Order: sequence, then C-alpha cells, then structure tokens
Amino acid sequence: MRRYLVAGNWKMNLGPAAGRELAAGVSDRLRGRVLRGDVLVCPPYVTIPAVAAVADGNPVLLGAQNCGDQDSGAFTGEVGPSMLKEAGAQYVIIAHSERRQYQREDDELFVRKINLVHACGLKAIFCYGELLGERKAGRERDVVRAQLEGVLPKLQYADPYNTVLAYEPVWAIGTGETATPEQAQEMHAWSREVVARLLGDGPAGNMRILYGGSCKASNARELFGQKDVDGGLIGGASLKVDDFVGIVEGAEAALG
Ligand code: PEP
Repeated sequence: MRRYLVAGNWKMNLGPAAGRELAAGVSDRLRGRVLRGDVLVCPPYVTIPAVAAVADGNPVLLGAQNCGDQDSGAFTGEVGPSMLKEAGAQYVIIAHSERRQYQREDDELFVRKINLVHACGLKAIFCYGELLGERKAGRERDVVRAQLEGVLPKLQYADPYNTVLAYEPVWAIGTGETATPEQAQEMHAWSREVVARLLGDGPAGNMRILYGGSCKASNARELFGQKDVDGGLIGGASLKVDDFVGIVEGAEAALG
C-alpha cells in the first residue's frame, strides 16, 4: 500500500517571514491529525531555515526545489544537497518543467543531481511530462517513456523509498487546465509500466507517482482516487493554508 504524498512547490514565492507564517498555518491545521500519507512543503532556499523551525515533520515535511550537481566547492551560486539536509530538508525536487525550460537542464544533469541527492541521504522527486504540442500530436506516451528511460536506469541508488515520480503535463502547470482523472490515470499506469520495465515489478509497484498540474481542493479527491495516482505536486494552490489543507483533505477522502 503506497502512502500518498501531497507536496507543495512554492516556486519563487514567499521569503522567510511569509514562508514561516504559511508553514505554521499548515502545521497548526494538521497537527494532531492521524494522516494516512505525507505532507511536504518546498520553499525557496533562503526560506528553508525559517520553515524548518515550524515544519518539523509533525506532520509537515520540508524539501527544496532544486540543488547543485556538486556538494561543495567553487560553484558560485549553487547549493549542495548536504547543506539542504543540514538546513532541515528531506526531499529535493529535480527536473521541474520550469528548470527544463528556463535553465535548459537535461537528463545528464538530472542523473548527476539525483545520484548526489541520494548519496547525501535525501529523497528525490523527479518531474516529467509532455508539452501541449506533444499531446496534440499523440506523442505523450513516447515522450514520457523517453524521459523516464533517460534517467531512471542511470540512478545508482534509486529505490521506491528515496525516489518519487511526479507526472506533470506541462500544459496543465499553472494554466488552470487540469488533466482529467482518466487522463492522469492513463499516464500514471503507463509510467508504472515503463518503471517496471526499467527497474522491475517490485520498485514499480511501490514507487509513488504524483500528479502535478492545476491541482486544487475541488479536484484532488477525484484525481488522487485513481488507482495509480499517489498524491500531488502542487504549485499555486500550495500558497494558501486553506487551499493546501483542502488538498490534503482531498487525499484523505480519496482513501475512503
Ligand atoms: C508545479 O509547478 O509543479 C505545479 C503543479 O503548478 P500548479 O499546481 O500551479 O499547476
């Protein structure tokens, strides 16, 4: 039985003061509740220490949105996974579509980053998903397969407990347009099939696959109720306490 994960990607929003306030609000609303899954917030780097003071894993976990592909040294502007771990992070998002698009990050870099994240004892959330044009051309399965094939077989330490996948159709990210539950389920089942071929049936059955793309409280229950959808990576709706907690409640409700 896979535990759901509801992960908030704050992107380039909320400095230390505002981030701490949001994380405290979420923690206060969820503390003491017996959740059947995990809740995670991923603030900007500079906000991580402030959030660590209130998101202590009880029940809100803490992660980062990115990391360098080296752990320390003469790499101006970079942040290594060990530093993130020391600051309180347990997860790192890798390969978000915005980093693919704006920073031109590629498979080789993702492999280096995820291997380092794992070597440092952190968990990676690996994002992938097709562009609108690729879906319109009926190529979404091929694109997703290539994205998984380009990275998963090269990971040295990946297992279902240190690696989470996040299927994020790019046409649904920040657009208000959400994949239908049927579309999400189809792509998640396909992803799991590809993972089975690459890593084996055991890892494929146990690895969590999140859905990302305009997920909100009103659609979370139906999306997360799909057999192969194990929670969500949430952008815009992770920035307000009520919206984010509503999604966690959707994840709980999806379990019946
Ligand atoms: C994201 O950026 O990972 C995301 C899913 O954003 P949004 O929920 O705003 O579509």
